[in-house]
Amino acid sequence: MGRRFKTEFTGESFELEEEIAKEFLETCKILDLTGLAPGAAGNVSIRTDRGMLITPGGKPFGCLTQEDIIWVVEYKQKTNTAKVKGKFEPSSETPMHYLVYKNFPEINAIVHAHDPLVLKNPGLVEKLKIKTTAREMPYGTLELAEEVIRELKESRYVFIKNHGSISVGKNLKNATSLMLQVHRIFENEGKD
Ligand SMILES: [Zn+2]
Repeated sequence: MGRRFKTEFTGESFELEEEIAKEFLETCKILDLTGLAPGAAGNVSIRTDRGMLITPGGKPFGCLTQEDIIWVVEYKQKTNTAKVKGKFEPSSETPMHYLVYKNFPEINAIVHAHDPLVLKNPGLVEKLKIKTTAREMPYGTLELAEEVIRELKESRYVFIKNHGSISVGKNLKNATSLMLQVHRIFENEGKD
């Protein structure tokens, strides 16, 4: 999938605390193992005091290493440009992640997955009253980001119609466990 913003690289490598990298990559691995990021779909980010760390675009979650993590120093909406450090292009949903952090100071982590169980059961999404984006917008657009932000005002988990899900939290642990919690509900529903 292509990117709908420009990337300005300002360096290939950067210092990253081992603990942060470890937790970040563990989340990606969990999403891969549970099938929530099929292909190279989905993205994970965390807010740091220097900007945000995010997964690269187009790389399967199962084999990510520390070198794949991209640091988005800044994203400028006016010029639609992301200033980054790293070796690869950041996720195509970089503007959405950036704008969620901008709108919600209490959110420090975002998990975006394409949970196949949730996607194929919109009836259950409705039954469980899971907040859902009202209008369908193409991935990677600011319009999609706006739709998601509107729903995040009322819920930490939002279903993006015909696309995937987003969960947020004050840390990565919270955002990840919320994503998995909803996944388990859909899994159990399929059993009976
Ligand atoms: Zn997506």
